[in-house]
Parts: sequence; structure tokens; C-alpha cells
Amino acid sequence: MLTQKNISLLPYNSFHLDVNAAEFVSIETVNQLQELLSQQTPALILGGGSNLLLTRNVDGLVVKIDIRGIDEVKEDNTHIYVRAGAGENWHEFVMYTMKRNWGGLENLSLIPGNVGAAPIQNIGAYGVELKDCFYELEAYDRTEKKVFAFGVNDCRFGYRNSIFKSAEKGRYIILNVTFILRKTPILHTSYGAIRDELKKMGIQSPAIQDVSKAVITIRRSKLPDPAEIGNAGSFFKNPVVDQAKFQSLSSKYTDMPAYPHEDQSVKLAAGWLIEQCGWKGYRKGDAGVHKDQALVLVNYGKATGREILELSLKIQSSVLKKFGVQLEEEVNIF
Ligand SMILES: Cc1cc2nc3c(=O)[nH]c(=O)nc-3n(C[C@H](O)[C@H](O)[C@H](O)COP(=O)(O)OP(=O)(O)OC[C@H]3O[C@@H](n4cnc5c(N)ncnc54)[C@H](O)[C@@H]3O)c2cc1C
Repeated sequence: MLTQKNISLLPYNSFHLDVNAAEFVSIETVNQLQELLSQQTPALILGGGSNLLLTRNVDGLVVKIDIRGIDEVKEDNTHIYVRAGAGENWHEFVMYTMKRNWGGLENLSLIPGNVGAAPIQNIGAYGVELKDCFYELEAYDRTEKKVFAFGVNDCRFGYRNSIFKSAEKGRYIILNVTFILRKTPILHTSYGAIRDELKKMGIQSPAIQDVSKAVITIRRSKLPDPAEIGNAGSFFKNPVVDQAKFQSLSSKYTDMPAYPHEDQSVKLAAGWLIEQCGWKGYRKGDAGVHKDQALVLVNYGKATGREILELSLKIQSSVLKKFGVQLEEEVNIF
């Protein structure tokens, strides 16, 4: 366990923000983590850095979770239970399950980041969320100084949310996650984009690997690659409004996209709201809004986290003014 001093976090965040960490350590085992936490209090826990906006230097210790390992824990006639270390790369783990023909994670292909952060916002894409294949996780409790197991109900998963991003934010460090995957997959291809892509591929009876390939192709064509342009995917969550608010907006904006959500509420498309306020393709200095995806804020090169944060605040206030809808950040701001 080597602690580095005064290092740049530029290679460790997908926004490519050049802030410094006073101390940086990568931990590979639970014992290392426990030993470290008995001596020091980390200022920031880091996975793949793909959902993070760093607005300042980190005066304290950054701990990168690099706990690896994939194990088949148990199986029954229909399911296989697979545990992955928090430091495993998410997409590589999905590919591991695809190779073995275990169904469930195909729609979540190519989401950046690591396994350990995936439950934090209950990652989701193309009609599937992590919670749909979640069995349990183990996390180190920084308050009780013990490792606890969390089942699906303990995690209180919601839309881009969990207990780890809300009520108990910052308390637990996720060590590993166990997934329950199907030996006989059930496909989720109701999204038009997936169906269209499978058609283009000439596939009528898709396997999970085909769905995964379709998702990868769609994502590559739609989303800016952080390797080419700094970003953290969707900057805001899609806002959820009640029926009364939805009715008043949809009578005024007849082409407004909207999707049914839980308990009669309605989910609006944050990207559409932002675009209507004229932000799509906006750029000031090196901070901007992507030219094709209004929901994605970008760093064209040398933007600072502060500049991106200021831009996000302006976007929030213009959406609030025009639509009376408060956008909430999906990205974690430090
Ligand atoms: C191009 C692009 C596309 C994306 N598309 C999607 C998408 O389709 N769906 C979606 O849901 N998300 C998407 N995201 C967001 C991101 O990929 C996910 O949120 C991912 O789970 C973040 O993982 P990470 O390891 O990079 O987390 P990080 O950015 O390193 O960390 C995120 C937060 O979790 C904390 N954290 C990290 N690891 C741990 C741990 N082991 N224990 C406790 N806390 C921890 C950090 O302190 C931070 O607050 C996208 C991002 C990008 C850049």
C-alpha cells in the first residue's frame, strides 16, 4: 500500500479535471482498507471517476478502491450467483457474464466505471436497472467499523438512487457486489432503439450477446466517449413530477416527452427541457453542453470543475424559470 503525495487526479476522472490530491492510495484488499481506516479518514472514495465533478483540490486522502476478483458463489437450476470485487471494471464484468451466457446485464453494457459504484446510483440503461439483477453487497461501515451485508431491500434502490447516495451517503465503502443471473435469459428489447439496431444487424431471434452488441453500437453512436471529450454522462437526473404539474406542462408544450413513473407520477426528459432553454451546443471557454446531447456537460480541454458547476447552475435556474421544474444533479460533486 503506497501512499503518493500531491498527485494530479486528471487520469482518474472522466471529466479530465486537473485537481490535486494531497494524498492518494490504491487499496486492493479489505484488510488494507481496514488498516488504512484505523489510521486515517479519507476525504474521497474513488472508483472509475466517471460520475464525479471535482471542483477543488482534495486537501486530504483519496482512496481508490481496487479490490478485484470474480467468483461464482452458488447456483441452482435457474440462476447463477456471481460476486465481483468493487474494483472490477463494470463493462469488463458484463462481458465476462456474456461469455458465459448468463443473462441479465446485457442492457447495461458499456456503462463506464467500476462494480463498486454501480449500486450507489442503481445504474440503469435501456429499460434495465442494476437492482433487477442484484442479490447482495458487502460494505464497510465507517461508523461501526465493521463489514455488513445488504440485501436488495436494505439498499432502498430507486431511480438513480439508493441508500448509499441518499440517507447514508458517505457512510459505507462498497467492497463487492453479488448478482443473480439467469441461466435461461429473459430479454428486454422493448426500447425502440434496441429493436431497430437488432433489425439492422439482421437478427430476428436475439441472444443476450446480440442485445449487448446492439446496446454497445447505440451507445457509441449517441454518447460522447470520455476518452475523446471529458464528460460524466448525464449530468442531471430526469425530473419526476406529479400528475397536476404534468397536465399543466403538457397542455402548454404538446410535444414534451414524458414517461409514466411510479405512483402515478411522470418522468420528464431533462435533455429536452435543457434543449428548449437553448443550451444545446452552448460553450463558454472549455465548458459546454454537448452538441447532440443536451443532458451531457462537457470539458473541451482546460475547463475547471468550478466552470462546469457554474454552467450547471445556470442551466438549472433557466429550466426552473421556464418550466417550474427543479433539475437534480446525477453527478456527484466534490
Ligand atoms: C459516457 C458516460 C455514460 C454513462 N452512462 C450511464 C448510464 O447509462 N447509466 C448510468 O446509470 N450511469 C451512467 N454513467 C455514470 C457512471 O458511469 C456510473 O454512475 C458509474 O456507476 C460510476 O462508476 P465509477 O466507478 O466511475 O464511480 P466514481 O465516479 O468513481 O464514483 C461515484 C460516486 O461513488 C462513490 N464511490 C465510488 N466507489 C465507491 C465504493 N466502492 N464504495 C463507496 N462509494 C464509492 C464516489 O465517492 C462518488 O461519490 C455514465 C458515465 C459516462 C461518463
